[in-house]
Amino acid sequence: MKYCKKCLMPDTRPGITFMEDGVCAPCHNYEKQKHTDWNTRFKELETLCDKYRGRGNKYDCAIAVSGGKASHFQVYIMKEVMKMNPVLLSTSCTDWTKTGAQNIQNIAETFSCDVISIQPNPRVARIMARKAFEEIGSPTWYLDALIYAFPYRMAAQLGLKLLVYGENVNYTYGGKYNIETPSAKFQPLNDVVKPVWDKWLEDGQITAAELESAKQMTLEEYDRSGLEAIYMSYFVPWDTHHNYEVAKRWGFRHMEHEYCREGTLENYNQIDSLSYLLNQYLKYPKFAHASATEMASRWIRAGLTTREEMIPLVKKYDKRLDQGIVDAFMEYTRMTPREFWKTMDKWYNRELFYQDRDGVWHEKFEVGVGLIEEKTNSLF
Ligand SMILES: [Zn+2]
Repeated sequence: MKYCKKCLMPDTRPGITFMEDGVCAPCHNYEKQKHTDWNTRFKELETLCDKYRGRGNKYDCAIAVSGGKASHFQVYIMKEVMKMNPVLLSTSCTDWTKTGAQNIQNIAETFSCDVISIQPNPRVARIMARKAFEEIGSPTWYLDALIYAFPYRMAAQLGLKLLVYGENVNYTYGGKYNIETPSAKFQPLNDVVKPVWDKWLEDGQITAAELESAKQMTLEEYDRSGLEAIYMSYFVPWDTHHNYEVAKRWGFRHMEHEYCREGTLENYNQIDSLSYLLNQYLKYPKFAHASATEMASRWIRAGLTTREEMIPLVKKYDKRLDQGIVDAFMEYTRMTPREFWKTMDKWYNRELFYQDRDGVWHEKFEVGVGLIEEKTNSLF
């Protein structure tokens, strides 16, 4: 296990690559932004908008939104700067926070846009939350699949040709498809949604038809639709904190006054739903990094803080699983504490953690350093 020399991302993140200088690809890609000719890229976006403006029946383009800070930033660029008439496509949460619900309402109100949302099948969502937690350690698999599938399919059904996404997740934060490209054609192939469809049907609780809406377009369907899906992060500089500052100016609200989450360093990222955070947390037992590592690394890249300042915070917060999230998840999936913690045990990577006699897990690594000599009994 090794850590990026610049930020705090370890090489245990799936798909991430490191360069010869010991610095991770996301850090290099962030630096690349400083030498990118943004004027030319911005003109490319203008040309695209000119091509599609006024061409749809009702709307010029679609924007895939969650209602979060990045969504506010995307809609701001497309509607206020580019003067397009977009429709916003969103996947509703099964458990909106009050702040998350206010934010999606705000984005529609402030920018004066129609929103078309898909309400996930509540029965399938509940069954899948538990199944996906137990089988692949990703309780939000069904919602993630919908988030990737719905905007492509709905934009095509509406006859629209331009679909706007935010950042290219694998390129910006690390992952399998680490190529900078304006097109989001291949986004559904990234590694966020594992292709395990047959597994969900085995016990007969869910039918293939019930999962149909979460199935992504095939590349052939995409080509036939004439859709052009793009990443905004290719056309304008992409920085989490900057986007947050812009979003605030247009009415986006953080969650501090509603709920203080354990285990995060901020109050503005992924705040639409609490249960979603269990997914984020599970990266900790699996890969030894969770939300605090992610945000600390983004801030270090952006020069807002230093690696040294962040190490103690990441050590302290990444390992904290929010009690309210555990309670809500157990109630939602009807799991008992015994079932919940037994399933959690399954997801600990034995190379990165060891379990003591009483079942408590301990780190074999030190944040920012890597694997350390194994202690056999943490009580003494
Ligand atoms: Zn890095």
